[in-house]
Amino acid sequence: MAEVLAAYGYALTVFPDAQALAAATEAPEVVILDLNPCDLAPGGAHMADAKGRKIPAVALSSSTGFAARLAAARAGCDAYVVKPPDVNALVDHLDRLTERDPDQPLRIVIVDDDATLGAYYEMALQSAGMRTRLVTDPMQAMEAIYDHNADLVVTDLIMPQCTGFELAAVLRQYDGLLALPIVFLTADLDAETYRSAVRTGIDAYMTKPVDLGDLAETVRARARRARQLKALMVRDGLTGAYNHLMIQDLLASEVARARREGTALAFAMLDIDHFKKVNDRYGHGAGDRVIKGLSRLLHQRLRRTDMIGRYGGEEFAVIMPHTSPQDAADRLNLLRQQFSDIPYVHGDTQFQVTFSGGVAGFQDGRDAKALNQMADAALYRAKNAGRNRIELG
Ligand code: GH3
Ligand code: MG
Ligand code: MG
Repeated sequence: MAEVLAAYGYALTVFPDAQALAAATEAPEVVILDLNPCDLAPGGAHMADAKGRKIPAVALSSSTGFAARLAAARAGCDAYVVKPPDVNALVDHLDRLTERDPDQPLRIVIVDDDATLGAYYEMALQSAGMRTRLVTDPMQAMEAIYDHNADLVVTDLIMPQCTGFELAAVLRQYDGLLALPIVFLTADLDAETYRSAVRTGIDAYMTKPVDLGDLAETVRARARRARQLKALMVRDGLTGAYNHLMIQDLLASEVARARREGTALAFAMLDIDHFKKVNDRYGHGAGDRVIKGLSRLLHQRLRRTDMIGRYGGEEFAVIMPHTSPQDAADRLNLLRQQFSDIPYVHGDTQFQVTFSGGVAGFQDGRDAKALNQMADAALYRAKNAGRNRIELG
């Protein structure tokens, strides 16, 4: 196991028992407990590092039963892996528990009309490694959530423009935000208020004055869980396109296939033009409809074997197997014209939207990352050259 884990950058040290581990000079980042969890006392997996932080523990057990899992949970294990361990699953747990996700800090939007208090919460979350955005006007929350690509929202209850409940109710009107966790900061809630909070889709509430340590823990746990769930869902909730992770996986395997079989492969990135203006002028609901519209057009007009992913907010990625970059660009150009002809109705006005695209083709020596960069650079050129066009990388 040491050898396998070393390939993923983890150094494994084996200790025969807890005493030997306790005597180690350096606290480990994670402990893997290769023993029968039923032999662990409640809390028995709790170990702390020099700073008093709990060292995450993974139970490695040959038992698949509930009793052993319960014993592991009671002992304080953070993950449970059945022997013989699936290496990918084990490494996933290790990555998660050690937070080896350096370029992906959790992104939190804080809504509080009191800027001083907001800054105080921001500081707590930032020092726990999260990236925050503060809005003091709930009317701006929507914009901030999309812009910041928020994993979670923390909101105050009493604000002059609208209450935190009302804000939550509005957020839940958007399909894309149905799963967004909302943590609520409030004075003690009576039973009726609590029930109505739960009905509007509040995930957690914390009583003021909020303990900053508790806030960071609650927010981190919920945001991380939301992200894990998002990653498990292979398709994006709003559009039904593959999510970012999935399309990346698909690209990697299509590149491998193209290399193996010597076939052509094109990869494109598409980005809606001046999408901010669509949101600003017609609202985020209209913006969502445009995103769905582009996704629908791509799904209808591309081949069944093409793969479509939602890369980010208004950005899509398309994998086209057995297609030269020139053919891919021609095909996308046609779609670009069709898309720009679609009228979107808003009240008694109409508007049209365009997109730009960058295309990259597979060649020997190019991996998925190189294709990403090429398509991205081509997209950037298309934007700079005036938008509403497809550029070849
Ligand atoms: P450009 O032509 O350069 O691409 O300009 P742009 O305005 O489209 O680009 P930018 O990337 O600056 O803005 C994208 C905006 O899309 C920012 C964000 O508020 C919004 N957005 C992101 N995701 C969603 C979403 O799911 N729904 C809606 N309605 N808006 C979103
Ligand atoms: Mg755009
Ligand atoms: Mg963009």
